[in-house]
Amino acid sequence: MPGPGFVPYLIPVLLSLLLFSFCAAGPQRQTSQRSIAAWSYTGDTGPAYWHTLDSAYRIAAEGQAQSPINIDTSFLIVPQSGYLAPAFNYTETDYVLENNGHTIELIPENGNNHINLDGIDYVLQQFHFHSPSEHRIDGKSFDLEVHFVHKDHDGNVTVAGILFNEGAENNILKELFAVLEKKGLAAGARVKPEAPLNPAKLFAIGIDGRAVPLYRYNGSLTTPPCTEGVKWCISSLPQELSKAQLAAFRSLYYGNNRPVQDLHGRLVFMGLPF
Ligand SMILES: [Zn+2]
Repeated sequence: MPGPGFVPYLIPVLLSLLLFSFCAAGPQRQTSQRSIAAWSYTGDTGPAYWHTLDSAYRIAAEGQAQSPINIDTSFLIVPQSGYLAPAFNYTETDYVLENNGHTIELIPENGNNHINLDGIDYVLQQFHFHSPSEHRIDGKSFDLEVHFVHKDHDGNVTVAGILFNEGAENNILKELFAVLEKKGLAAGARVKPEAPLNPAKLFAIGIDGRAVPLYRYNGSLTTPPCTEGVKWCISSLPQELSKAQLAAFRSLYYGNNRPVQDLHGRLVFMGLPF
């Protein structure tokens, strides 16, 4: 048992411990606040190296349920019942358009857009674009893919995706991409489109909110940290946008797509409308 005589010797020890804990607190605070390591779609910070850039990204290489994937429609599981497409409850909403350095993202100004999947309510957080597409259908890539990212109360993520090919002008994307064409949008910049947007129209969902059949599987975020546990729903009905609309997006981002990942035995289901 150390007596009181030991106390003076302990003071420098305690001081150095205290000092150390302050030093340790510095980087720790930075860790919790810092944005994750810089990544890109090319070169030595591209998808093949994401897992090496930050310990938080290791799952990009080690995971067994990564996204995107190639959806082979000859191996789809079509359940007799009970495996449904989400019910979309989207409304006209004001958005902020942001260039986040990896894509163009639309952030709703309220939490009024929901989907219900397997009885759980998920709120739309943002939607964004990849070109060319990340998912492939029967090996085929598409010109553009939109991802609608939703979260439930517990932070679980569901992403609904739509694939686009060049073709007719898309009326829903018209104003959105006109903003890009007219004003451009530097990385980090934000702009507010003049008119609200109902994202349901991008899915070509009927006014009764009925969903289209969707491909469903369990995957991950397609950008670092590539977290798994994401429920994916990819619309089986590709949409169109014009050459000029595609060019407007591609003038900012082209090649912001992660390559398809190994299925590792995962099954892809056909989620049917209600
Ligand atoms: Zn995405």
